[in-house]
Amino acid sequence: MVDISPGGALGSSATSDIFQILRDGRPRTRTELATLTGLARSTVALRIDSLTKLGLIGPAETAPSTGGRPSSQFALRAGNKVVLAVDIGATHVRIAVSDLTGRPLSEDEAAIAVTEGPEAVLSWVIEASDSLLTTAGRSHGDLLAIGVGLPGPVEHSSGRPINPPIMPGWDNFDVPAWLQAHFAVPVLVDNDVNIMALGEREVAWPQVGHLIFVKVATGIGAGVISGGMLQRGAQGVAGDLGHVRVSRDNETLCHCGNTGCLEALASGPALAKTLGADAPSSQDVVDLVRSGNLDAIQAVRQAGRDLGEVLTACISLINPSVIVVGGAMAQAGEHLIAGVREVVYARSMPLATQHLQITQSSVGANAAVLGASLLAIHHVLSPESVEAMVVDLADATTR
Ligand SMILES: [Zn+2]
Repeated sequence: MVDISPGGALGSSATSDIFQILRDGRPRTRTELATLTGLARSTVALRIDSLTKLGLIGPAETAPSTGGRPSSQFALRAGNKVVLAVDIGATHVRIAVSDLTGRPLSEDEAAIAVTEGPEAVLSWVIEASDSLLTTAGRSHGDLLAIGVGLPGPVEHSSGRPINPPIMPGWDNFDVPAWLQAHFAVPVLVDNDVNIMALGEREVAWPQVGHLIFVKVATGIGAGVISGGMLQRGAQGVAGDLGHVRVSRDNETLCHCGNTGCLEALASGPALAKTLGADAPSSQDVVDLVRSGNLDAIQAVRQAGRDLGEVLTACISLINPSVIVVGGAMAQAGEHLIAGVREVVYARSMPLATQHLQITQSSVGANAAVLGASLLAIHHVLSPESVEAMVVDLADATTR
C-alpha cells in the first residue's frame, strides 16, 4: 500500500521531517523550519546541509528585492534528480524522464505489442531510456528510481506480473531485476489502472481521499483510492471489475470462461462485436459515436449502464466522492458517462450520491506516465528513503 499524501503517514526522523515539509515546493527559512519541526536551529542547519549535499534541496532563487544577497530560504530542487516513468500498454510503450514533481523533461513512445514478451519490450525500454536521459542532459547518477505500469495484475511487493491474461511470457517475470541489471535504482511496478488513478488524482483531484478511476478499453478495471491510499488488496487485484457479472446477460461468453462478465459486454472489443461490420475495432466504435451514429451511441450508453450497475456496488462498499472514467472508450464522450450516471443515481442510496461526481478523465493518455513517475517519486522521497540516503551520505563522508 502506498501512502500518496506528500507528507507520508509513517514515522520519520528529523532530516526527513524537514524534507517532507519542503516537498510542496514552497521556500522556507531555517527559522520557519525550526518552528514547524520543533527542532533546534542548529539541528535544522545540519539537516539542511545533508539535504543540500544530496541535491534534494537548495537555497531558494533570490528574489530581486533582497538585492542579490544569498537567499536565507531553502526549497525543493525538483530538477536536480530525475525518475524514469514507463507505461507499458497492450500495444504501446511510453516512457518519460521526469523531475521530482512528475514533470516530464523528455519523452518517447513506440508501438510495441506487450505480446512480444518481456525481454523484447524491456530491452527497448532500456535503450530508449538511455537516450532520453542523454536528451535531458542527465546521467545514471541523477536517476533515483523507476516506476513501471503493466497492463495486467502485478504482485506489487515483488514487481512480478501474476497470470496476466494478455501478456504471454510475462507470468512471474522479474521486471525489477531485469531493469536493475542496467539501472542500479529501486524499480516499482504496478498495474496500469492503479498508476492512472495516482496520476489522475494528483493532477485533477489532489484534495480528494476517496476516488475510483475506471479504465474502459480492451479490458475494464479500476484503481481504488480510499482514505488517501491506493488500495491494492491482498493479492494486488483490488479493483479488477471486468469479470463481475452484469444482471441483464447470462449468455455472452467471456475469455475468462464465465458468462455475462462486464468486460464481455462493455469493453471496446465487446462493443465492436455488438456493432458488427460497421466497427471492426474499438477506435471505430469511438469514431462512430463521434459521428452521431445512433446504433453506436445506444451501444455505448448501454455499456455505461452495465458499468454503472457494477459501480453501484462499489459505491456502497467504499463511498467515493469522485468516480473518473478513463481509457480509450472514454473518448466516446458523455454517452458512456451518461449511462453510468443513469444507473448509479437510480440505484444508489441518496446519501452516497449526494456529493458524488462522475466524470471523464482529464489527464487522458498521459495519466499512466504521470502515475508511473509518481509511483517512483512517492517511493524514493518517502521518509524512509530520504533517511537512508542521508545515512549513506554520512557513511561515505566518514569513510
Ligand atoms: Zn470474464
